[in-house]
Amino acid sequence: MKFGGTSVADPERIARVARLVAAEARKGHQIAVVVSAMAGKTNELVAWTDAAGSPAQGVELCDDEYDVVVASGEQVTAGLLALTLRSQGLNARSWLGWQIPIIADDAHGRARIEAVEADALGAAIDGGQIAVIAGFQGVTRDGRIATLGRGGSDTSAVAVAAALKAIRCDIYTDVDGVYTTDPRIEQRARRLAKISYEEMLEMASLGAKVLQTRSVELAMSQHVAVRVLSSFVEPDDMSEHTGTIVCDEEEIVEKRIVSGVAYSRDEAKISLLGLPDHPGVSSKIFSKLGDANVNVDMIVQSRARTSETANMTFTVGKRDAGRAMELIRSVQAEVGFEDAEVDEDVAKVSVIGVGMRSHTGVAKTMFGALADKGVNIQVISTSEIKISVLIEAAYTELAVRALHAAYGLDQIG
Ligand code: ADP
Ligand code: ASP
Ligand code: MG
Repeated sequence: MKFGGTSVADPERIARVARLVAAEARKGHQIAVVVSAMAGKTNELVAWTDAAGSPAQGVELCDDEYDVVVASGEQVTAGLLALTLRSQGLNARSWLGWQIPIIADDAHGRARIEAVEADALGAAIDGGQIAVIAGFQGVTRDGRIATLGRGGSDTSAVAVAAALKAIRCDIYTDVDGVYTTDPRIEQRARRLAKISYEEMLEMASLGAKVLQTRSVELAMSQHVAVRVLSSFVEPDDMSEHTGTIVCDEEEIVEKRIVSGVAYSRDEAKISLLGLPDHPGVSSKIFSKLGDANVNVDMIVQSRARTSETANMTFTVGKRDAGRAMELIRSVQAEVGFEDAEVDEDVAKVSVIGVGMRSHTGVAKTMFGALADKGVNIQVISTSEIKISVLIEAAYTELAVRALHAAYGLDQIG
């Protein structure tokens, strides 16, 4: 059972979480609980590290001391939930990442889990104790605390579930499942009873923050059954059908062409104008960015009509945009382009669905719906199961709603 920040935001909510855990324990289940920091806490801790001179999170790795600070929010909630469970007469104890240990690499601020050495944890649970685990944190091989990137408690939960061979990993949050799009933007969004790992992976990586992308990757590779559900349900109202199950595509009977719409405002667009149109140019630019760990997402290049030059546009993470521009300017003389510009006022909107593999006309519907609303498309990228467009940020909500309706995802009534 994993509980996110809103679900443990204050002592009353922690007491509510304790009741949900107790109800599962009464059913005879062995339980590991993973908790996030109280809502807003991690942001506050990050701001404190900024004030102490820690470099802004971006392409460069965070300082190891950044992790010491930001991991602390989860320690508080793990202890508080264990205390609350004990006060209800249950046998519980808290576990910090290093105590299990959850071994992570040393990419501070966005570390990856390398192993969960769950022998002691498993023995404690077998002994009848409820384990309350601080999410978001692990320990490096040389004994330093490492955090798993924002939203990383989801990944902690899936990793622990895999290590313990859990029947299921239940992610309790502030919505009652995965929706066809962010319910905060489109009230007509529908809850999906099931979604495939692949679609969920795309949804998460294209901006739906309901699950951290890595948690879905891990669930898919380790075959962990994941369920997303609300922590605001009463224990008596819970059934096997509550929430959304993330599972293999074969387990989904209802066939949809498009399952969801996602958006992200985390990207910036970089345009290079007047590039020489000959072999090796793209290679030089993207090697420079790749060597510096800048992730590039959408890319388009087109030949200019009037001369032997080309223009190129691509996107990078917003927080990497400044560094990316510096890197590009550093190769301007060598590559020989005329000008480079950056635009942060963009959003990426995507439609996702495994049904696209076998259906035509999906792109036509997308472009038609956006044209009807007067939304201009700046860049397009596609894969087998998604189409993404880059648009002006101000049109994000409008575009999401238009696409949601165009693919028949709106709730009826
Ligand atoms: P937690 O603190 O529990 O980890 P998050 O804020 O990380 O919760 O994730 C839940 C939020 O994800 C919801 O409040 C919702 O606004 C957002 N969200 C974005 N896209 C979706 C989607 N397709 N389905 C459900 N929630 C979504
Ligand atoms: N508390 C961390 C964050 O806010 C991890 C999490 O909530 O999953 O990013
Ligand atoms: Mg989250």
